[in-house]
Amino acid sequence: MAKIRVTKIFHFEMAHALIDYKGLCKNIHGHSYQLEVCVSGNINQHTNPAQKGMVMDFSDLKNIVEKHIIKRYDHALILNKKTDPELLKLLKTNYKNIIVVDYQPTSEQLLVEFAKELKLHLPAYVKLHHIQLSETQSSFATWYAEDNE
Ligand SMILES: [Zn+2]
Repeated sequence: MAKIRVTKIFHFEMAHALIDYKGLCKNIHGHSYQLEVCVSGNINQHTNPAQKGMVMDFSDLKNIVEKHIIKRYDHALILNKKTDPELLKLLKTNYKNIIVVDYQPTSEQLLVEFAKELKLHLPAYVKLHHIQLSETQSSFATWYAEDNE
């Protein structure tokens, strides 16, 4: 048996603002986010004969991440619920893709949410190993399962 890590990379566009922040990120602005999702497992632990030799079919991983993360967050504006309620109301009246959360929508906090969501939907024959979220080419945060056990 060989333990192997399998990774897929996704891209989505999202806007956010950091409430009470002192720098530029207090303004509503967007990022072209890159999300790297890595699962680990042993080969052939699934029951699908068409996936012989695989830990997990890349297309299965793609479908899960797209359904539970990308579809929800792509081209959305994510805001802390402490944002001016009048503004939130106006935004929600005019746009369908406003996500209001009870946390500061930083890469770190988003990773916590994404990890929670992915662990719910990944098949039992793999384990979420790590996920990495990049806001820019030089800035990224990483969640590791081993750091969070
Ligand atoms: Zn930002």
